[in-house]
Amino acid sequence: MKSYFKQFPDKEGFFGKYGGSFLPPDLQVEVDKITDAYFTISKSHNFISELRSIRKHFQGRPTPVYYCNKLSEMTGGRIYLKREDLNHSGAHKLNHCMGEALLARYMGKKKLIAETGAGQHGVALATAAAYFGLECEIHMGEVDIEKEHPNVVRMQILGATVVPVTHGLKTLKEAVDSAFEAYLADPVTTIYCIGSVVGPHPFPMMVRDFQRVVGIEARAQYTEMTGELPDNVVACVGGGSNAAGIFSAFLDEEDCTLWGVEPGGVSEKVGDHAATMSYGVSDGLIHGFKCYNLQDDKGEPLPVYSVASGLDYPGVGPEHSMLKDTQKVNYVVATDAEAIDAFYTLSRKEGIIPALESAHAVACALQLAKENPRQSILVNLSGRGDKDIDFVVNKYGLPENRKM
Ligand SMILES: *Cc1c(COP(=O)(O)O)cnc(C)c1O
Repeated sequence: MKSYFKQFPDKEGFFGKYGGSFLPPDLQVEVDKITDAYFTISKSHNFISELRSIRKHFQGRPTPVYYCNKLSEMTGGRIYLKREDLNHSGAHKLNHCMGEALLARYMGKKKLIAETGAGQHGVALATAAAYFGLECEIHMGEVDIEKEHPNVVRMQILGATVVPVTHGLKTLKEAVDSAFEAYLADPVTTIYCIGSVVGPHPFPMMVRDFQRVVGIEARAQYTEMTGELPDNVVACVGGGSNAAGIFSAFLDEEDCTLWGVEPGGVSEKVGDHAATMSYGVSDGLIHGFKCYNLQDDKGEPLPVYSVASGLDYPGVGPEHSMLKDTQKVNYVVATDAEAIDAFYTLSRKEGIIPALESAHAVACALQLAKENPRQSILVNLSGRGDKDIDFVVNKYGLPENRKM
């Protein structure tokens, strides 16, 4: 039998019925060139050894796996963290941005183009562009520019141009359209760099492949520490890149239960959450690919919300959509309140301030540990929480004088 990674995605970029590429013909021609280049370049010895060297010397990989003494004592379980918060620039996103930018350089591109919502992908891509001496153009809704000021400044310090998007709701969806337009205007010298395992083929495959390093490292480190595999592996799911990365090393293991944690927000009502797979429909089309989707009767994306802005996307990666249907992964939700609790618990018990996105995974782990005290749990701690501290303290207060 063909291995999982040779089977999925298939040649057209499908994971079962999900994924593919649904683009206007002129754009499809350009995206096909990226696919061809990726298949050729990513197998070359020079590309692989350069990426390895970057990961080690620039990103600081491997990131450690850490045993949480206090959390384990508190819950009765055994909780371990894969510390992607210690990856350079503070999150897992740099793993695929360095890969995409290296591919761009091998293809002879001069400029990287992308959209960003909260600015995390923009900052990671601007970091990669600076490293490779490439130009970088980040499209961002005016509303988000206002909200995410520190990330806008970071991108500018790193030398990127931030293009304000002023039409429609002036947020992520419009930014995606605007970035695609800019790419289409000059597809020869520019390349579009997506921020998660979403979008048309080859992006979900390419981003997953660049994130697989997280799973490969974590599995080796965990087995060296404990002599066995973890009973549970947990990751938060926005588009699904950090989850795809860590799950990839455990998909073939019957004894490992995988948990993808979606943002439950404040309620199950439309507009109050971004739990695409838990509350959405299975046959949606968004941004050129098929996946579980939060959409209205006309196929328009519904408004989404999460306390963690990196998680609020009305679609999800096609691979996760398939893994939900095959029940290989359990997809569950953590609410805002549970994430905030986990944010403070990890900060105070272990001295690690997690990103609000990652706090959703920690919340799930705390609950699993309480319910199954003898089991081990490996959490992908996708990022650090420095970016969230002012927001959390202003909105919710410190635990000793909580406003919620
Ligand atoms: C962007 C982001 C996420 C969500 O993206 P995925 O593609 O679902 O991994 C999660 N954690 C952090 C820290 C992020 O910045």
